[in-house]
Amino acid sequence: MSYFHLMSESSTGRFPAGFRRLDIGARREALRKTFAFSSDEWDSISCAPELFPLLDVMVESAVGCVPVPLGIADGFLIDGQEVSIPMAVEEPSVITAASFGARLVRGDGGFRSWASDPLMTAQVFLEGVTAEGEKALAGCDGQLRQELSGPLASLSRRGGGYRSFQLARLPSGTLRVDMVIDVRDALGANRLNTAAESVSPLLERISGGRRLMAILTNAAAQRLAGARFSIPVDRLARGLPVGMSGPEAARRIAAASVIAQEDPSRAVTHNKGIMNGIASLALATMNDTRAAEAAAHLWAARDGRYRGLSTYSTDGRTLSGEIELPVALASVGGSVELHPASRAALRVLGNPDARGLSRIAAALGLAQNLAAVLALVTHGIQKGHMKYHAARLAYQAGARGEEARRLAAELAASGAADLPSAQALLLDLRAQKDRS
Ligand code: NAD
Repeated sequence: MSYFHLMSESSTGRFPAGFRRLDIGARREALRKTFAFSSDEWDSISCAPELFPLLDVMVESAVGCVPVPLGIADGFLIDGQEVSIPMAVEEPSVITAASFGARLVRGDGGFRSWASDPLMTAQVFLEGVTAEGEKALAGCDGQLRQELSGPLASLSRRGGGYRSFQLARLPSGTLRVDMVIDVRDALGANRLNTAAESVSPLLERISGGRRLMAILTNAAAQRLAGARFSIPVDRLARGLPVGMSGPEAARRIAAASVIAQEDPSRAVTHNKGIMNGIASLALATMNDTRAAEAAAHLWAARDGRYRGLSTYSTDGRTLSGEIELPVALASVGGSVELHPASRAALRVLGNPDARGLSRIAAALGLAQNLAAVLALVTHGIQKGHMKYHAARLAYQAGARGEEARRLAAELAASGAADLPSAQALLLDLRAQKDRS
């Protein structure tokens, strides 16, 4: 029994001890009895019962699923290929922005993308290693390779596996052993954690130290993907505010890009926009969204100052944009491929391997960011966002279908942005309809 299991056995909570050991049906019953769910609340977390056994092996104490909307960002041209990108996200403007960014650049060759080998790093932290012990470890490459051949056999068979190692002495005195491993199409977290733990006794024997912990690093600093585009500035001219030219819009985008490099408080929002795209793709494919986020934000601060992950420049005739960041997305392993929704998303993407997926992610992040920055430095982003807000208010007020579209349009035109106004306007609309 794992440490977590022992803790949850002894813990008290709202549910009887052993809740996690119930089957999912019994767990759902206990949940339903404990909380007074409305029928729409209950229905919304009750996915198809055929999925229950899968949910049960994906996470512990499963009781249902959260139906996050899944949309498709279309119109991407990446390295000459048409790509449709599934995105799972709750924020309204994200998919439209991605498609808009894709359409802006597709007429001029679209995105060029690249990806490094899928190298991840497993780490063992050793305490009590003397200078001699460290010296002894420095020569252990052959032994490490040999020791790792078992745990990494499934990766080696596919052309991946152990590549190299290095040592780092931390300010605390702890010695860190970094083992670089090519994980092919997996995230590699489980593989690397197994490898790091299994190699620890050897490292202890050679160094005379003791293992404090062994785990992969999510830095993924050697698993990079990037994308770039270049478009004539006139492409930006359509729909700009009166009096603003394409070259001026491009100049403003480049100026915003400089600010994202020099001001971390702007950079974090700039990067949040990029991750709107990448995290939505990660979730749609059932990749580990937290791993993708953690790696991106650490990379943004790699020179000691947190900076924007994308940059833009213009010479007055063309606008160029570029992004490069760690993208640890898998096309196999974990919940990827296991969950049918993940398989469906990969199918829409054309079943890319992990490097292909990371290239798509980089292009998506850049498209997302281009659309957001263009909106920010021209009309402002609220104009578009308020349209979505009006649609949500109309829904909350009880309007559906055509009535909801009409109410949202009237709300947006009136500038009202609260539920009582939406409810009052809906009553007016219905009264008008009754009279006509
Ligand atoms: P995994 O344990 O499913 O291992 C991948 C499997 O896929 C291996 O058995 C491998 O042999 C097989 N495989 C088949 N074809 C392959 C190919 N072409 N390339 C590579 N492998 C191939 O998954 P994983 O990637 O080791 O770990 C991912 C899981 O670990 C995720 O669910 C993640 O959330 C979780 N996790 C993450 C962290 C972290 O990021 N810090 C920590 C622990 C666990």
